[in-house]
Amino acid sequence: MIMPIFISAFSLSSHVMEILEDLAVKHPAFTAQLAAVIQGRKPVVRVEFELHGEDYVNFIELLTKLRLVWFEHSPHPVRICYASSLHKEVAKDVKVHYPRHPAIRNYDFLRLSAVLRKYEEFWSSLTEGKIIPLDLSGGELNSSSEIIIARDSEGLKNFLTLYATAREQYKQTERTMAIELFDRFLGMAFGYPGCCTEKFAKDRKGKRPKEDYIFYESIVERGFENAVPVELRTVAHVPCDVVCEPSIDLGREYLRVLMAFDPNAFEKAIKELRKPTLFIDRWHHITINEKEHTAMPDLTVTEEEFIGKAEKEMKTKPKEIVLGSIETVPFLYLTEFLGLWWIGVDPGHSVFMCNAETRRAKLYQKHGVRSIADLRIYRYK
Ligand SMILES: [Zn+2]
Repeated sequence: MIMPIFISAFSLSSHVMEILEDLAVKHPAFTAQLAAVIQGRKPVVRVEFELHGEDYVNFIELLTKLRLVWFEHSPHPVRICYASSLHKEVAKDVKVHYPRHPAIRNYDFLRLSAVLRKYEEFWSSLTEGKIIPLDLSGGELNSSSEIIIARDSEGLKNFLTLYATAREQYKQTERTMAIELFDRFLGMAFGYPGCCTEKFAKDRKGKRPKEDYIFYESIVERGFENAVPVELRTVAHVPCDVVCEPSIDLGREYLRVLMAFDPNAFEKAIKELRKPTLFIDRWHHITINEKEHTAMPDLTVTEEEFIGKAEKEMKTKPKEIVLGSIETVPFLYLTEFLGLWWIGVDPGHSVFMCNAETRRAKLYQKHGVRSIADLRIYRYK
């Protein structure tokens, strides 16, 4: 059943809409998932990328203006944790202080370290349906944390309670069973399709952690590398297969909700989601802005020169050659990928990259037991 859309972004200030639209360019799938949370179509959404400096400040402003509630750090046994918006006095007057950004003092937002015992008490009280404030002390703002966002306190509490219950069961169950059980609980808590949760939990049990590989290998095996449904790039979970209907439906729903919430953010997000991605391995998965090289005659490295270099380095003729700029990366440690690159690909075997302006080059080759999903460019439809 299609539910009516109740909320639109038009009531927000132009500054907040700008933040949302900027987010749609940098993190398009997340923006669609966030819209789904706002509209009550998804229980919670997790931030899985780094936010630094002004981006972080803007992000907190967006969450505050949208009246969302959130929990930091991502609920995993971590020592840094702050049930931020659960503390009413904090939600009222949140400020962030950046030593490197003295001009930005909108929020005084403390990220604090919980004593481990207190952290355990926090989770055990949740299994009884109670949220107790964490007793926190010291600490600095950590701009690379994970955050769980819900529409309201009740939604957040439901998620945390499910997580706390899974955590409790995990401790009481035999190890291989425990991981499987834990994944099932989390799949349910995040609102993922049953088929995907089931496959993820089973495949992960007792094997090396494959996560994204489960999905990307299915793309390659079925010959979908150049036609991955864009909806599957929109969802937060690992789909069980490239033809998983519930996942495609879910992605379509997130996009539809974003379109209704903010058509400009939707336009920006869908444009980004349709761009090809370079997949070196599951940690290096980067969006490419393809360029027409005939429109760029002044490149330091010409196509001809690149092909010569690529054949020498890759010891074969690349099957695919792309000129593309890399403009955003999800984590700071990937910053070295930013720039305009010639990219030569021998799918599944090697990737050779040469910066078209600086001549800096990188060669990635298959070695040891690698996934067939690695060292490829994926395209979306
Ligand atoms: Zn599925």
